[in-house]
Amino acid sequence: MISGSHVDLCSRCGTTAFYVQKDFDQRLGCAILALGAALALGVSWRFGGIWFVPVLLAFAAADLVLARRVPPVVICYQCDTEYRDVPDASSVRAYDPHIAERFAETKTVRRMNP
Ligand SMILES: [Zn+2]
Repeated sequence: MISGSHVDLCSRCGTTAFYVQKDFDQRLGCAILALGAALALGVSWRFGGIWFVPVLLAFAAADLVLARRVPPVVICYQCDTEYRDVPDASSVRAYDPHIAERFAETKTVRRMNP
């Protein structure tokens, strides 16, 4: 993990291909929603079914707000180095499996010859 400014060339492998990703743990998001569903069930059992959807929506909103607060991480396709605090992270495109495919081969070779 490297904190820096502008990223256009990977400082570790020299690759210029990057993708951006939210530094948000998907498992945490699922856990929040699962907790919300459980609570919504409990509330609707106690106070009536009309409360099920509002409680669930409140948790879904909290989940969304939490995910938005998380800063994006720019990741190198080639060596998976993560760059945080990148000011122009929004200009980096999202993960593209076609680009990743091009690097998959070299990655495999590297793993076989450490
Ligand atoms: Zn790299």
